[in-house]
Amino acid sequence: MSYDVIVVGAGYGGATCAALLAKQGLRVCVVDKNPRAGGKAMTLHKDGHGYEMWPIVGGPSENGRFQELVKELDLEAEVELLLPEEAGEIRYIKPDGDVSIAPMSARPSADPMAAMRTPDLLGATEDEAAAALQVAATIFSLSEAEIDALDDVGTYSWLCSMGLSGPMLSYQLIVLNLLFVVPVDRLPASETVRTLRDFYGGGGGRYHRGGYGFPAESAIDYVVRNGGEFRPRTRVERVIVENGRAVGIVAGGEELRARAVISNAGIQPTVLKLAGEQAFPPDYVERVRSLEPSLALTGIRYFTDAPIMRTPMVLQFSDESWWDESRYRACEAGDWPEHPMLFIVTPSVHDPDLAPMRGTRRSSPARCARRTPRRR
Ligand SMILES: Cc1cc2nc3c(=O)[nH]c(=O)nc-3n(C[C@H](O)[C@H](O)[C@H](O)COP(=O)(O)OP(=O)(O)OC[C@H]3O[C@@H](n4cnc5c(N)ncnc54)[C@H](O)[C@@H]3O)c2cc1C
Repeated sequence: MSYDVIVVGAGYGGATCAALLAKQGLRVCVVDKNPRAGGKAMTLHKDGHGYEMWPIVGGPSENGRFQELVKELDLEAEVELLLPEEAGEIRYIKPDGDVSIAPMSARPSADPMAAMRTPDLLGATEDEAAAALQVAATIFSLSEAEIDALDDVGTYSWLCSMGLSGPMLSYQLIVLNLLFVVPVDRLPASETVRTLRDFYGGGGGRYHRGGYGFPAESAIDYVVRNGGEFRPRTRVERVIVENGRAVGIVAGGEELRARAVISNAGIQPTVLKLAGEQAFPPDYVERVRSLEPSLALTGIRYFTDAPIMRTPMVLQFSDESWWDESRYRACEAGDWPEHPMLFIVTPSVHDPDLAPMRGTRRSSPARCARRTPRRR
């Protein structure tokens, strides 16, 4: 069998790439070991519940690459982006135990102070509000060269040097923990600036009707509609490299050939296993080998037989909820914060069709079935 391009992996990355190539008229074959598209973001279905494998919501909500993709493929009617104005609430547990609550929208706000959460949630002295405004102004005004210069500066020290302290600092740090899942002292300030620029400019909390993984499924359908092929449940054993070029794969005992192979199966599996390190310069292999995975947030799924949550998202934190390296180490040693960060997302509030009992609210407490915890 021969194709123009073989794409390994039907996660968001592979599905996007394959669909854009199919749009150019190329004959594309997408291969994935999973039964359906979506990768880590795959939407699963069980007993009438639709739920996510790992990711739960996304950002930026507006003006992001998802909108770009959906528009480019002319899938706007098929892939509905859900951006609720009333997306939920943010709860800040103050040092004295009182809780301050502010509404959360999945849409961006024109007011930079709203993005910094200073007035409504965190309160602030005049000086603190001025520091928050300065951070927002810096995020939006740094030049590319100035951002690059922050590559070796840790986010924690950078935000502290900007005068952010107390609850405002805590809020920024927990948002960054959620987005990157790395300790904030090891997160380059350059990445923080780029990401917060998108996030505060475009809002956060995007979901899709049909599940967070639906755009990937839709992109793969697009590939098939445009003359391509999708081979699910097919594990790629090897990428065939000849004369320095990837020209095919071995999958399910079969050899498939193409003018090019694109692997989105993860950089370490691709380089170290599928293609093999002999296909790459030694310094590149060393760099790939040294990449570390992100750290962990623990997730628990509850499947309930009646609605519990009224809004799709709830985010709760205190000043002890954010993670830097030393807090992770302390936690590893058993020293847990009293109020860890809590992020609750309920897919069926976003899209009622993802629950089996939509529209039937019961007054008795819902029975819960707990499924496997997940770690990142
Ligand atoms: C716990 C967790 C929570 C997350 N939360 C969020 C979130 O809330 N919002 C968000 O936007 N992002 C979140 N992310 C990040 C998001 O999941 C990833 O950025 C995204 O899924 C990466 O897409 P990808 O296509 O690059 O890779 P993947 O989704 O990993 O896709 C790779 C694909 O390659 C396939 N594959 C691998 N090896 C082979 C092989 N040998 N043969 C055939 N197929 C193979 C896999 O089956 C998979 O389908 C989270 C990640 C994790 C782990």
